[in-house]
Amino acid sequence: VTELDLRALGIWRIPIPLPGTHPRETVNAWAIEDVDGGVALLDCGFDTPESVAALADGLDEGGTSFQSVRRIILSHSHAEHSGGVRRVLELAPNDVAVHASRSQAVRLRHVCRRAYPLRDRERLRFRRFAVSALRMPGHTAGLTCLFAEYEGIFFSSDHLLNGTVPVVTCAPANADLREAYRASLLRLGALDVRVVLPGRGVPFAGHRRVVGEILTTLAHERWGATPATRRESVGRGAGVAEGT
Ligand SMILES: [Zn+2]
Repeated sequence: VTELDLRALGIWRIPIPLPGTHPRETVNAWAIEDVDGGVALLDCGFDTPESVAALADGLDEGGTSFQSVRRIILSHSHAEHSGGVRRVLELAPNDVAVHASRSQAVRLRHVCRRAYPLRDRERLRFRRFAVSALRMPGHTAGLTCLFAEYEGIFFSSDHLLNGTVPVVTCAPANADLREAYRASLLRLGALDVRVVLPGRGVPFAGHRRVVGEILTTLAHERWGATPATRRESVGRGAGVAEGT
């Protein structure tokens, strides 16, 4: 699956620069052609002017703009994925719907009257395909991925990254979350996925290989390790602030 194949489905990647990284690292927002000529955003970057400018450029490259944003779907509450939501809401028409985890939807109700909690297996229909929202706790308790079953496209956010073990909140206090992550990885491994569209980096195939690598890493980590040693063991991406 190439970027061109994705474009034919009305999907394109918008890289958002991570502040303070050299060379410049990025996280992804995904733009998706929505019904009625609008556009949906899966995640929307940071709450910074630079991030909003990157989103504006990315929408422009797809021939659209904030004025056409109809829906925002937030994969999880980390700042680089959903910190920009208030700014985007200010720039978009005021009937935009936001879909997010239950706790995040509740927090957004005072800035968006159409903030809805995503249910597991909830169907969302875009212009050219439909997805199921899948709750995949682990990286955070409320993380949601999107799966287009027919096309085999899996929007993984930070649940599955190629070449990096996503940060899972540290044991032992969050041992349940680590167990949940293991279960979520097994759930993903059982799906027929052709291509993963991740929260960082370019699309990749071979999700079962990556799931297997992460499960192996988790199995060898010491439970009860301190946050500092955990950070060393998870490598790149470990500096990201944790949240729910
Ligand atoms: Zn995250």
